[in-house]
Amino acid sequence: MRLFLALEPPPELRARLGALADIARARCGGRRVSDASLHLTLAFLGEVEAAQAEALVAWLQGETPAGGEWHLDCWGAFRRPGIVWVGGRTPDPALTALQARLWDGLERLGHGGRPSRFMPHVTLLRRSRHLSTEALPPVELAWRWRRLTLLRSFTLDDGPRYEVLARSA
Ligand code: ATP
Ligand code: MG
Repeated sequence: MRLFLALEPPPELRARLGALADIARARCGGRRVSDASLHLTLAFLGEVEAAQAEALVAWLQGETPAGGEWHLDCWGAFRRPGIVWVGGRTPDPALTALQARLWDGLERLGHGGRPSRFMPHVTLLRRSRHLSTEALPPVELAWRWRRLTLLRSFTLDDGPRYEVLARSA
């Protein structure tokens, strides 16, 4: 199964991100990520066996992150996949530390694939053809986070769908 670790936005922020996704969709086209699927990926694990997934669930349930507040203040785009996202202009030390600590734990569990750099972002659009984000309204959002979520990703005909497997304490 295809797994990743992420932060899920609290409901009010989810709605705000969804509203930004609507605005971006009107200007940039592409596929809008549904409100239910909005997230911040901390670690992409890829294909994982059932036994490894069970170990991940047990490990995550024992994690107690201190939490933090991430400030989102910019738009960005990834050209090749046509992704339009929102994120922070400057690196967030708490997220950077969290991602590093998670990968330390994941590597102890035998997972590879730690990326050489981490660029926290929330994908709002995919397969967009108009990636100029200059005319989009300013972003000013705060994301108070604490719990981490292990998600399973399915690819369905109408796009990806995620299922929660576990959350941290
Ligand atoms: P789809 O690939 O079906 O269009 P998706 O990208 O949302 O949808 P996944 O590919 O399963 O679904 O990815 C789940 C999460 O992990 C997403 O946030 C995605 O951006 C991220 N991700 C996927 N592949 C990688 C990778 N190789 N490195 C880092 N993050 C990744
Ligand atoms: Mg993908």
